[in-house]
Amino acid sequence: MSSDKKTVASSTDSVHAGVPKGRPHHALALSIEATATFTFANTAELERYMRGEDPDPSREEYGRYGNPTVCELERRVADLETAEAGVAFSSGMAAIATAVLSLVKAGEHVVLFRDGYRRTRQLVTQTLARFGVEHSIVASGDLNALSAALKDNTRLVIAESPTNPYLYCLDLRGLSALVKARGRIRTLVDATFATPINCRPLELGVDLVVHSATKYLSGHNDVLGGVVVGPQHLISLLRDARGVFGSVLDPHAAFLIARGIKTLGVRVRRQNETALALARMLEGAPEIERVFYPMLESHPSHAIARAQMLGGGGVVSFIVRGGRAAASRLVDAVKIPKIAASLGGVETLIEQPAIMSYSELSEEQLSAIGIDPALVRLAVGIEETADLLADFEQALKLSGRPRA
Ligand SMILES: *Cc1c(COP(=O)(O)O)cnc(C)c1O
Repeated sequence: MSSDKKTVASSTDSVHAGVPKGRPHHALALSIEATATFTFANTAELERYMRGEDPDPSREEYGRYGNPTVCELERRVADLETAEAGVAFSSGMAAIATAVLSLVKAGEHVVLFRDGYRRTRQLVTQTLARFGVEHSIVASGDLNALSAALKDNTRLVIAESPTNPYLYCLDLRGLSALVKARGRIRTLVDATFATPINCRPLELGVDLVVHSATKYLSGHNDVLGGVVVGPQHLISLLRDARGVFGSVLDPHAAFLIARGIKTLGVRVRRQNETALALARMLEGAPEIERVFYPMLESHPSHAIARAQMLGGGGVVSFIVRGGRAAASRLVDAVKIPKIAASLGGVETLIEQPAIMSYSELSEEQLSAIGIDPALVRLAVGIEETADLLADFEQALKLSGRPRA
């Protein structure tokens, strides 16, 4: 894989990709078109529009089908990912649910990887199951296991790279080749953790890429959104489904996400740097049992991460020696990170999955899905790397040497 050329989006792309040359009133910035519907001057104009002959190809009819502010965001994310088209949704889960429900039907089979976003797994194992869609779950990053799980009625493979929370990376070129050889199977990659700054799955042959724009794309922990990008014919399918489900992104939210994307390049590069520095420091700390970060040589996905990603992203997961309580002591001892779910924003966030995302699960259930009670997920922001390093150093001293 070392011959893979890493082509990723630059900071210049973050600022300029998908931005039109001219705007109404010569404005530099995107404006918020706060309108639920759009008017026609007369019935002849309406009839022309309905025949698809309106001189303005970007013209919209009604807010659930499109909005100029939202459309510009869709164009920008599509361009950042080198996709033909994009479609935005009210959240990452709305994007994933709409994509999955558009791509499979009763009697078909879906494969997903174990260490995935919890609600995506729930969508497949619970919601789709109710509608007669079968599924298999295979080990993260394991293409042999995927190959063995493919069936004649498999129509969709859902993957994440890197995954949450263990940051496994999947050989996306290998995935695409494997699936294409079997025909009629589509690949949907949740690239929320990667961002187009670190990896562009479409260039590696994947069919559709989905982002929770709530995370890195918007980058400020102040808005929810989701975007799917890919070939026009699939995006049109999803756009039609959005018209049915109504999971549209509000133009104000679209504005915030589009503005956030302007700094995506600088933010993600800083987050790559800080996360790597913290991962190295934690790996050397006696209080820490194990660190998961794809750019560490010790990570099982290190080789593939190096081959297909520019950086490892802003999330570092680690297991604290001494169990659940020792992990909680460390989480309480750091001063800069806020205890909160989510990631990818300017503020550093920290959480202990056993008491946040998976709080209702027993120790046995946690172990069944591979979540260590002493696991901590750190999502670095854009604070100074040195400040975060110093904060963790003082916290490790404070939280004390392990008793176990
Ligand atoms: C947050 C997240 C989602 C869900 O996105 P929302 O915007 O919260 O609905 C999906 N996938 C991954 C990897 C995420 O981190």
